[in-house]
Amino acid sequence: MTNAVANSLPLAQFYPQNLMIESVLVEDNEIHIKMHSQTPKCNCPKCMMESSSLHATHHRKVQDLPIYGKRVMLDINLYEFNCVNPKCSITSFTETFENFLNNYSYMTERLVDLMTTLALETSCESCARILKSMNIKTSGDTVIRTLIKRYEKQPEPECGSAIGVDDFAYKKRHTYGTIIVDEETHKTVAILDGRDGVTLKEWLKKNKQVKTVTRDRASAYAKAVEEILPDCMQIADRFHLHQNLMDAVNKILSREIPATTAIVSEDNKGDNHSDRCEDIPCKKNRTHCG
Ligand SMILES: [Zn+2]
Repeated sequence: MTNAVANSLPLAQFYPQNLMIESVLVEDNEIHIKMHSQTPKCNCPKCMMESSSLHATHHRKVQDLPIYGKRVMLDINLYEFNCVNPKCSITSFTETFENFLNNYSYMTERLVDLMTTLALETSCESCARILKSMNIKTSGDTVIRTLIKRYEKQPEPECGSAIGVDDFAYKKRHTYGTIIVDEETHKTVAILDGRDGVTLKEWLKKNKQVKTVTRDRASAYAKAVEEILPDCMQIADRFHLHQNLMDAVNKILSREIPATTAIVSEDNKGDNHSDRCEDIPCKKNRTHCG
């Protein structure tokens, strides 16, 4: 059976049920939607105790995803509740709307989702430029702050007993960091500042389940692991062994082989070798030629 085709799109279905739309004002570039909360009670985010004790009402202007290229601004009237748990560390809290609006946020979660996805696929500055072209008010700095907030909200990733540690450059020859990867899941479990082993030591103190560390052949990581987890097995990984071998081979070849080797033409083939050698720019001692 086919559903009847509606000739209008009810706006309310795109917002949480406990947010009542009061008015909609459509301008050339913007749509202003005024709404108020109808939340009768809310759980304290600290102690999770339910409260219906109203402390205050707040106004917050929140940016949402654009509609047909028009910027959407929500003017929301929301509640602050008292925490009724005397043992709780906070006395009051502002309500949040799950998967729609977080504490103190001036953007809806769906707008934050778009921003973070775009920033991770491009860059913070490119993301800001693309969003501006979609009539979303933002800046590169806002995108960075939003990414950091999202990252801090992520639960601490679980780490197994085998890890890989390596350094990487934020800016080559200036700023470096350390990346730790779980060898079983192949997922990044930590990004640390610096590559001198200091931050790695702090991380290892909190992750004493680690039994195996795969690393490069630099001494900073080796010392850090040895100091914090002396029984841990340290493995020089194949990539760095290959890299070290290739560096050594390159060094020897560039020292032993002339920088330029002349190819003797057919006409000069019969010439005496010692005559030819004078014309060949030879990096090595001439007595080695021939
Ligand atoms: Zn509480």
